[in-house]
Order: sequence, then C-alpha cells, then structure tokens
Amino acid sequence: MDSKIWLSSPHLGTKERAFINEAFQSNWIAPSGKLVDGFESDISNYLGNEQHVAALNSGTAAIHLALVLLNVAAGDEVLCQSHTFAASANPIIYQGATPIFIDSEALSWNLCPELLEQAIKDRIKKGKTPKAIIAVHLYGMPYQVDEIQAIAAHYNIPIIEDSAEAFGSRFENKMCGTFGSMAILSFNGNKIITTSAGGALITKDKFLRDKAVFLATQAKDDHAAYTHSNIGYNYRMSNVLAGIGRAQMEVLDSRVTARRNNFKVYSEALAHLSELKFQQEPKNCVSNRWLTCVLTPSEEVREGLRKHLESLNIESRPFWRPMHLQPVFKDAPAYVNGVSKNLFKKGLCLPSGSNLSEADLNRVINGIKDFFRV
Ligand SMILES: *Cc1c(COP(=O)(O)O)cnc(C)c1O
Repeated sequence: MDSKIWLSSPHLGTKERAFINEAFQSNWIAPSGKLVDGFESDISNYLGNEQHVAALNSGTAAIHLALVLLNVAAGDEVLCQSHTFAASANPIIYQGATPIFIDSEALSWNLCPELLEQAIKDRIKKGKTPKAIIAVHLYGMPYQVDEIQAIAAHYNIPIIEDSAEAFGSRFENKMCGTFGSMAILSFNGNKIITTSAGGALITKDKFLRDKAVFLATQAKDDHAAYTHSNIGYNYRMSNVLAGIGRAQMEVLDSRVTARRNNFKVYSEALAHLSELKFQQEPKNCVSNRWLTCVLTPSEEVREGLRKHLESLNIESRPFWRPMHLQPVFKDAPAYVNGVSKNLFKKGLCLPSGSNLSEADLNRVINGIKDFFRV
C-alpha cells in the first residue's frame, strides 16, 4: 500500500525547534512571554501594521472573545454564514445567543449579500437587531468584502471576520483578516500555518486587543491580590507554541505559493474532465487555496470518487455540511437559497498540503483519472 496522502497535514520548517529551545532555555513555559509578544508583532507586520493582535489558544476562543467584546449575551441574535465549519457558530451558543444562518452566493461560496440584507430586515421587523455578523472566507476564498461591509455599515452591525482558513489571502491586494470590526485566525494543525493548536484575535482598536488579553488571562483586575470584577477565560497562547508560530510566520508566503501551485497542477491536469469544476477566483480575489475544491456532478459521484481515493490511501473530504442542515442547529432560524446545500452535495476537497510532493499530486491526479476512466 502506498503511504497515506492527507488532506492538509502540518508542514514544519527548519526553525521551529530553535524557537522552542528559546522557550525552554528561558524557562518561559507559560501562556505568556517574549515569544507570544514576538508572534503577535510578526502577525501584525504581515497584516500591514495597523492591526493589534491577541494570540490565543484557538481560533474558536478568538470567536468567543470577539462575541464577548461585542457584548453578545443571552437572548441576542447573531448572523452567521451557514456554509462553514461548526467552530464559526458554536461560540454564539456559548453566549446563550441565537445563531441566524445565512446561505451563500454561487461565486465565492460565502455569505450571500442579498440574503444577508433580507435577513437583517426581517429580524429587525421581528423585533431584534442582530448584534454581529460572522462572515467567513471559506477554504481561503475571500467573501464579497465591499458588499458585506456596505450592508453591515448601513445597519450598523459589526462584522466578525472568520479568517481561520484565509491567512495569506487577499482582496484588492489587502489582507484577509483586516476587513471586519474584528477578525480571527486559526493555527490548528490542519491550517495553512500551525502552532499545533492556536488562534488570534485581530483588531485595529488597541483597547479591544488589550481587553481580549485581559479576558483571556482570567480577568484579573489586580495581579497581586487576585481581584475579579469580570468573568475571565483561560484562552491565552502558550509561549512554547508561539515559538512554533514565529518560525511558521517566516514560511507563510511560501506555504501560500505551494498551495496555490497545488490548485494549478490539479486544475491543469484535470481540465479535460467535464465532470469536475474547479473553484474560480472572483474578481480582485487572491485565495491562499488552503484547500483545492472541486464540484462533481452529484452526491453519488462525489462519494464514489472519495471512496475510490480512500481505497488508494488518499484522504479527501466533502465540503463542510452547512450549519442549517446540522442536527444540533435544527431549530435555529435560517435564510436559505439552496446554494450551500447544493455545494455540500457535489463538493470535494482534494489533498492540499503545502508539503505534497509532485509524486503525491500525480498519485491523486491518476487516482481521479482512473475513477473517471480517462
Ligand atoms: C479551523 C476553523 C475555526 C476554528 O479554529 P480552531 O483554531 O480550530 O479553534 C473557525 N472557523 C473556521 C472556518 C475554521 O476552519
């Protein structure tokens, strides 16, 4: 049996251990320290230096803190892209609020602006103005930034930009992670760069960033006497893991190049297969191509292809099941147009790691050709 080809496995460089050693040598084995500070400024530099960064122990924690900072509380409503990973939506429930799911448009596969506005009007008519919009750059593809921003501004609703999958992606040459009132990143093991587990909250407002760090470190008003007047969280990033992150920041651009190359190789080698449609970049968008996504003609073909690749020891994965189709969110209101349901039926994510070799890519390509017998 050939060795396993994973969907998106961690890709470490050469400097991670040196940074980790720095943590060990200084004995800063804690969720704070110089490497955490350094990692935060690396991210801020990368995003263009207007951003303040709080390094946290997951992207999910970052979304949760963003909701806390926006005072989302029990009984509130939060609008959330339906076509996403569950971690975008779960923190809404942590706050006792209600998620309102919004379907996608067919171009970027992200938040549909028309449906978003329709939902906002309807929620206001029903008596509540939504407290936030969680918009996602899914698979690394930027959402319709201008349209979504205009709607959010018109109704004065802050955007939490879920950029977990889109670190290194750009819209009109500006970095994803810089568009929302707040944005989040993830450094989980499967993401474009990793700290094994980790995330970050991004904001232009230094006060909000400092408040996020305060809340993430148990909300101590007074460090000596341990006085608390807020509920805190244990969400800060470990100094050891921030060391991995500092080394990964040095290779981020090369990881984007490698993932974009995967897409190019697949889409060129399989261009003749009329059964497969590759996701195109809308105008002014540069995706980091975190995952290479294809649409098959039907759910049966998608499952057939997935199982065939599995038999060749190649991992591929259906698209995220939309949140409005999840058992756990079955009672949440949803504004749907059928786009994400259709994408979910037909879509498959191909192995997309930046550490795939040419031989790996050829194995996947041959496996796909083999399945379609061409
Ligand atoms: C990975 C991911 C998250 C959560 O990040 P973690 O660091 O795993 O908690 C949130 N949203 C999306 C879209 C993701 O892909």
